[in-house]
Amino acid sequence: MKLSARVNQVSPSLTLAIAAKAKAMQAKGIDVCSFSAGEPDFPTPKHICEAAKTALDEGKTRYGAAVGELRLREAIANKLKKDNNLNYEADNIIVTNGGKFSLFNLMQVLIEPGDEVIIPAPYWLSYPEMVKLAGGTPVIVETSAENDYKITIEQLEQAITPNTKLFVFNSPSNPTGTVYAPNEVKALAKIIVERDILVVSDEIYEKILYDDAQHLSIGSIDEEIFKRTITSSGFAKSHSMTGWRVGYAAAPMEILKAMAKIQGHSTSNVCTFAQYGAIAALESSQECVQEMVQAFAQRRSYMHAAVNTISGLSCPKPYGAFYLFVDISKTGKKSLDFCNQLLETKQMAAIPGVAFGMDDCIRFSYATDMDTIKEGIKRLTEFVDS
Ligand code: GLU
Repeated sequence: MKLSARVNQVSPSLTLAIAAKAKAMQAKGIDVCSFSAGEPDFPTPKHICEAAKTALDEGKTRYGAAVGELRLREAIANKLKKDNNLNYEADNIIVTNGGKFSLFNLMQVLIEPGDEVIIPAPYWLSYPEMVKLAGGTPVIVETSAENDYKITIEQLEQAITPNTKLFVFNSPSNPTGTVYAPNEVKALAKIIVERDILVVSDEIYEKILYDDAQHLSIGSIDEEIFKRTITSSGFAKSHSMTGWRVGYAAAPMEILKAMAKIQGHSTSNVCTFAQYGAIAALESSQECVQEMVQAFAQRRSYMHAAVNTISGLSCPKPYGAFYLFVDISKTGKKSLDFCNQLLETKQMAAIPGVAFGMDDCIRFSYATDMDTIKEGIKRLTEFVDS
């Protein structure tokens, strides 16, 4: 069968594939330590589940507006004003099938053949594929561990051409855990405005911050950058709602209306009663988020210190999200081999850095319990020593 050239040029999602493989091995009774997909191990907080159950009982089971329930869009607009100093109205918000579909939809709306999209590497593996599926060209800008995996002003300036449409900005970052300081975000915003390009700010990890790291939403800096910003986020990571598939984008009206058209012909509304769970997530106490972040903080300290004691491995300290991005170059192995052998011989799952645009590294998600982390460190040490 001849499949479309469009689909033939994209790779499968390795995060999902490896997580599925680890789960299938576990289902067969194999004792796998999984550090694969970035998925909090906590159950969704009870009050969120209760709100969705009540919505079900009240018959919130029918089609809704393709852009999302008005009450949820209002709650998101309030959240963005209060937490992020972003002045969006409910009309500027679209509720999407996870943060992932807000990004996919946006690429469909903005990008066409000939358009370039600047993506700092290491990047979340779906960004370039979404650009390609929209017919655009991902322009990958490689960052370095020495610069905490942050794109520099010079690098951004040099990457911009007359064909540049969009810059993909992700802080806190998946896969590195890097967090741009507010003055660094401001410096990037200045270039974006001067060169008159658009920026999509993927803020899905904004609540997961450590030590004194601060999150600044790039769109909040001034009116000029606000006009050029699309803010993307969701509930999966902050409220442990990965399977619910509730995310959103906030954008200028013209972009929002175009995204609504795409959604009207693709997913329609996000599951109606799930949206009521998301309303509860925003309108109730955020203590549950803080409790999860505290647990991630402990795991991050332990795992960062432990990995750096293993000879041949090194990684910078992450200040956000729940990933360690580990340099394996001294082991002499490339990332795919390393991860395959680690899974086969030690039943430990990690994601090869090649998926994120950096083949000398691998990613561990530490959104898993301490016992798994301790056992994983033992297996990883044995693996590297052998
Ligand atoms: N975003 C998470 C990760 O990077 C979940 C899997 C995916 O959607 O890629 O592991």
